[in-house]
Amino acid sequence: MVTFRAGVIGQPISHSLSPRLHSYWLNSLKIDGQYSPYEVSPENLETFLKSMSQNGMRGCNVTLPHKQTAFQICDELDAVAHAVGAVNTITVKENGQLLGSNTDAFGFQRNVETQPDWTGISGLPNNKALVLGAGGAARAIIYALKSLGFATIYLVNRSKNKAEIIAHEMPFDIRPTSFDRLDTLMSSVAMLVNTTILGMKGAPTFDFDISRLPKNAWVSDLIYNPLETPLINKARAQNLHIVDGLNMLLYQAIPGFVAWFDPPKTPEVTPALRRYMLNAVI
Ligand code: NAP
Repeated sequence: MVTFRAGVIGQPISHSLSPRLHSYWLNSLKIDGQYSPYEVSPENLETFLKSMSQNGMRGCNVTLPHKQTAFQICDELDAVAHAVGAVNTITVKENGQLLGSNTDAFGFQRNVETQPDWTGISGLPNNKALVLGAGGAARAIIYALKSLGFATIYLVNRSKNKAEIIAHEMPFDIRPTSFDRLDTLMSSVAMLVNTTILGMKGAPTFDFDISRLPKNAWVSDLIYNPLETPLINKARAQNLHIVDGLNMLLYQAIPGFVAWFDPPKTPEVTPALRRYMLNAVI
């Protein structure tokens, strides 16, 4: 019988890269643990979560479509989950209660901060960012951008009402804006983040013009399949600073791993791990 058990829940779940990632760290850190995928339907979500303790699970990651419902079910929420309105990591506390966290913001922030050319907000031409997309991931990105020091966030989404809701609900300077203002906005921001599905394998391409971004601007795409997205290619051609989507996925997993498996040291995001994960993506 393994000592530590955790997993990832969603529907569907077979595509999840989380078991591959956590198993890599369990093996490399020689931890007696197990991390498994669980296909859980919305009707069974509450029962599954509430029986984790008696089933010997120390917690789980939560993916689509459960992130918002899990937020409602958890007994306690950390500050980021509270601000983002969604839970992607749950830890069973010693008293059996469920603590919900959101580690996507941490994953994005670490991914930016660990870039060799990142010198902090003061190294940028201004403190404004442009976020494309207002779906599930956008709130965590906005939270992370604020933590990185950005003061103003322009939020552009196909359905503008979703951007307006986020601007209303999050206590930051968020300016919902239309796609037809993109050209003008590009020249006034220091970072562009794509949180839409545009450019993802099987989705429509990303064909916005980014040529008006300042010459030392940063560009990030949350998409990691493919890793070299149309946006990343455009940014590379303009010699801009680039943050691809893969390391966000890897960094966001660290807090859960540490809480559930009590490792002797914090697991690392290394070039070898990136290669190992990319083999499963492509
Ligand atoms: P989501 O909630 O489904 O949101 C999708 C977003 O894409 C919405 O803003 C949607 O706009 C927009 N969109 C969809 N089709 C579009 C089109 N044809 N034209 C313009 N906009 C379109 O998804 P999510 O959970 O936020 O995830 C978004 C992306 O981030 C996905 O590619 C996902 O894989 C990636 N992601 C990566 C990580 C990571 O760790 N690297 C973590 C989370 C998410 P409407 O609101 O108008 O529909």
